[in-house]
Amino acid sequence: MKSKINSSRIPVYRDAGFELHDAETMAEAFNKEKSNEWEPDLYIYSRFRNPTVIAAEEEIMKLESSAWALLSQSGMSAVDIALSVFQDAKAVKPWLFFSEIYGGTISFADSILRKKRGLDIHTFSPVDERYDVQAFESLVKKLNPQLVYFEAVSNPLLIVPDVRYIIKICKTYGASIIVDNTFATPLLWKPLTDGADIVIHSATKYLSGHGNITAGVVCGNNTEIMKAAIEYRKFVGHMLSADDAYRLNTQVQTLKLRFKQQCLNAVRIAEILKNSDHIGKVWYPGSENHPSHKEAARLFGDKGFGGMITFDFAGETGPLKRKRRDTFIKAVSDKIKVIPSLGDPHSIMMPVQSVWGAKYPEPGMIRLSAGFEDTDELAGTISEALNSIQ
Ligand code: PLP
Repeated sequence: MKSKINSSRIPVYRDAGFELHDAETMAEAFNKEKSNEWEPDLYIYSRFRNPTVIAAEEEIMKLESSAWALLSQSGMSAVDIALSVFQDAKAVKPWLFFSEIYGGTISFADSILRKKRGLDIHTFSPVDERYDVQAFESLVKKLNPQLVYFEAVSNPLLIVPDVRYIIKICKTYGASIIVDNTFATPLLWKPLTDGADIVIHSATKYLSGHGNITAGVVCGNNTEIMKAAIEYRKFVGHMLSADDAYRLNTQVQTLKLRFKQQCLNAVRIAEILKNSDHIGKVWYPGSENHPSHKEAARLFGDKGFGGMITFDFAGETGPLKRKRRDTFIKAVSDKIKVIPSLGDPHSIMMPVQSVWGAKYPEPGMIRLSAGFEDTDELAGTISEALNSIQ
């Protein structure tokens, strides 16, 4: 076979270990590896670095406008890598997490970081579905945390904090900032350009966008942070496979098209829900009555408000709300499936109480991720389902 093929894309390099020819080259490669460069001159082992993974990372760097990106095998491993950077046996400063973040991250912080690794974990909660920046400043002043962790758009109430002010406060008091940008995507906000230290994504969601890849990514501009993250990913083995990186690289290239349509579909769905007598409440940051509409409008400008909507059925009693929820779920089930994820091609939904339990015990609540299907068809499916409710 010819050694060079005129392909326009990076192949899937499935080598577990790369050929290093002789003892001297191997010694040179391992020696250079100590400096944890993002793209090594000589690849050694796919758990360390892999050219197909690097190619996909490059694509995400363009999106987040970051100096580096590191892919990992899930969003949770990206959370772990990002937090590992700040973990130090001798450092004892507290870590501050916003309370409205992904449940898996909360469980990780509580069950692993606090209970097993002894970290001093604190949370900051919203009041009336808004994060009060004055209360945040007082807490940061008192606590003097080493890092602050928040999501650009929260889940399931879609709260958008006043992120620029929060970052300013963190900088004033010397706290590092990690932002989970999964829901907003870099198309609505690029946290690094506003001073965040690390941005992470569950690439399982919008970045891959087809519900067929589990992946995560950590992005940043600081080289020391990158080196610490590369080392941790290597030692713990959080690396993404070349096959998944290849598919992610292909799929991430359509993010703009997909997400634009998802944002448009969300606008239409929110409109239908707001106008239905069967719906008691709609949470959509694009609506003027959403508690953080102002923050969302200021941050996102005219880019859209994301593809997520949460809503609650109207009803005098819990059982009535539940009945209406279940009738709706059944009525749309051919087109809108109950799937515990988001950012898929088709609209998908999660009954909130089934997942959040006591945190959001509303029996009529549904979190819906708008897909990028035809807007009129989707609107028709939802309207018909609502009309079928007694
Ligand atoms: N961050 C957010 C905002 C999420 O919604 C999720 C998963 O739903 C994660 C992180 C974890 O990602 P993964 O499931 O890819 O590990």
